[in-house]
Amino acid sequence: ARAWHLESRPKGMPTTDNFALKPIDLREPGKGELRIANRWLSVDPYMRGRMNDVKSYVPPFELGAPMQGGAIGEVVESNADGFAVGDMVQHMAGWRDEAVVKASDVQKLPPLDVEPQAFLGQLGMPGITGFFGLTAVAEAKEGEVVFVSAAAGAVGSTVVQIAKARGMTVIGSAGGKEKCDWVRSLGADAMIDYKSDTPLIKALMEAAPDGIDVYFDNVGGDHLDAAFACANQGARFAICGMIDKYNVGAPTELRYLPRLIGNRIRVQGFIVSDYLSRAGEFYEEAAKLLQAGKLRREETVVEGLENMPDAFLGLFSGKNRGKMLVKL
Ligand code: NDP
Repeated sequence: ARAWHLESRPKGMPTTDNFALKPIDLREPGKGELRIANRWLSVDPYMRGRMNDVKSYVPPFELGAPMQGGAIGEVVESNADGFAVGDMVQHMAGWRDEAVVKASDVQKLPPLDVEPQAFLGQLGMPGITGFFGLTAVAEAKEGEVVFVSAAAGAVGSTVVQIAKARGMTVIGSAGGKEKCDWVRSLGADAMIDYKSDTPLIKALMEAAPDGIDVYFDNVGGDHLDAAFACANQGARFAICGMIDKYNVGAPTELRYLPRLIGNRIRVQGFIVSDYLSRAGEFYEEAAKLLQAGKLRREETVVEGLENMPDAFLGLFSGKNRGKMLVKL
């Protein structure tokens, strides 16, 4: 078996030199363990934080050690009750082709009639993030105006569709016309191409003449400032991610931050793990939306374990539409 190892810690934007694909020894599965052949591997923006040697809500990747991440695989040897050869399961021993894992660290896939890789994206961690960020953290309600950044990504494209299904007006932002057209086709009422020449604040003011009630932040930086500039009284900001800052240390001046006070804006960061115990609520709504054809899923698939670092790096230049995945 082979696994990607963290070879060196990046400064700024990572490069493929920070990763090394090396053989790993796989022990025989002991009592209560499974051998799993991975079929789908997830790359996610939060993994960039794990490449730094700093304390965070997830521990850093160890230098010289195999990396971890979400994966979907097939049980090829079972030494654990309740799992049979051929079962498709989800676990965290990603960034490799095969793994021996404790059955207690493995989840069976939820009973939804979708392709297994969906559980790494819209019907998994990113989808749960979008759902609870919008509904529980920002407490977005029918009739409100929601602005969501990185709207063509895994989290963002789910937020757009759930917000539309719940009767909100949705303004999204994404890089490039093609992505903007696609998110509009998912139901967004207006889209902002943040890579165009129009300043973001001006574009948002035009797209939201009555202001925004909710901002779902995936990007931070200028997007966050634009959201402050356009926020209504009592607006709620769900701070999900700040991808604009994961590789670059340069600060962004938040000129409109003082609006926080007079407009009584509530800004709340969150981590998806806070809501995993409530995942059933998400699956209930997602199943209904899927049945009604109101939840469309898109994946950008990179083939082959060898290309996994490229897939990961592609997240920071917007190579993905929907969820970025690696197929083995
Ligand atoms: P995405 O599928 O959205 O992929 C990342 C996207 O971000 C890219 O496609 C790109 O789209 C956009 N992007 C990259 N760099 C920049 C930049 N400098 N400025 C603006 N946009 C940029 O990833 P996910 O859906 O997995 O994650 C989205 C966000 O949610 C991330 O910030 C992530 O860290 C966060 N997150 C947080 C969780 C939590 O528990 N709080 C859980 C899961 C995700 P484009 O082409 O439009 O630029």
